[in-house]
Amino acid sequence: MNCPNCNSKSIKKIREVSVTQENIKTYLCHCNNCDYLYLANQNWLEIAYKYKFYGDTGYVYRNSNLVKKSLILFRTWKLLTQKQFPKACDIGAGIGLYARLMRDNGYEFHGADQYSEMLLIRPFIKDNENYPIKTAFEVVEHLTSFPDFLKEKIKKVDLFLFSTELRQVGEVPENEWWYYSFQNGQHIGFHSKKSLKKAFEISGYESQKLISYGSSIHAFANTRQWIFSLKLSHLIWKLFSIVEIFKRLINKIIFKEKSLMIDDYSYIMNSMKKDNKIDS
Ligand SMILES: [Zn+2]
Repeated sequence: MNCPNCNSKSIKKIREVSVTQENIKTYLCHCNNCDYLYLANQNWLEIAYKYKFYGDTGYVYRNSNLVKKSLILFRTWKLLTQKQFPKACDIGAGIGLYARLMRDNGYEFHGADQYSEMLLIRPFIKDNENYPIKTAFEVVEHLTSFPDFLKEKIKKVDLFLFSTELRQVGEVPENEWWYYSFQNGQHIGFHSKKSLKKAFEISGYESQKLISYGSSIHAFANTRQWIFSLKLSHLIWKLFSIVEIFKRLINKIIFKEKSLMIDDYSYIMNSMKKDNKIDS
């Protein structure tokens, strides 16, 4: 068995784990060459994608946050270059929420997703054009091979903005790590900075142009202006986050507002467990 990221044979089976609600056994494997961590023999994926409802109560919040971050970055680039923002495409667009919100803000985003009808952005579904800007959020950890995705879907771009939660280099987190989400079974690959760089190098990109916004948002920036905009917008985002914390605190104290996102998630998970017990 070769590494799905770098094709090396230097693979170690770390431990057996159970995935999906049907507890299918598989192995968590680690590549000694590129540091990629992944689940072997992905023969349960049909089961993992069988249910349309996963109780993901954070989906809208995460998308809205991504839009705020993207706007800071794109506005920084526009101020810097004095250019019109080009057409862009969100790959793995899901229902099309991110692309819709970006269009609402005046950015000509399209969407592509072979597994979704992208109901929110019809008829702006086109993946056959050359887009200088591409995004892919909550996609990389679902892929069998990130290098294949880069070569086939991203190709030549000025900016590729994407998300995936990174492990520390050389670290294999315990089973409780939230990002594995074994009970769901859809996350199959877990990158570190090292394995991510390797994926870009193998796909013909200059890996020094890879920039991370903390542990979960990353970008491949192919122009000097994008590299500078990413670095500057990261600083602006940090200031913006402090303001957001104050806003939330004020809303909590004065208006007694508390998000139901986490409570709803617990409620849904408990309901799903009960339903499964009734079914079985
Ligand atoms: Zn590898």
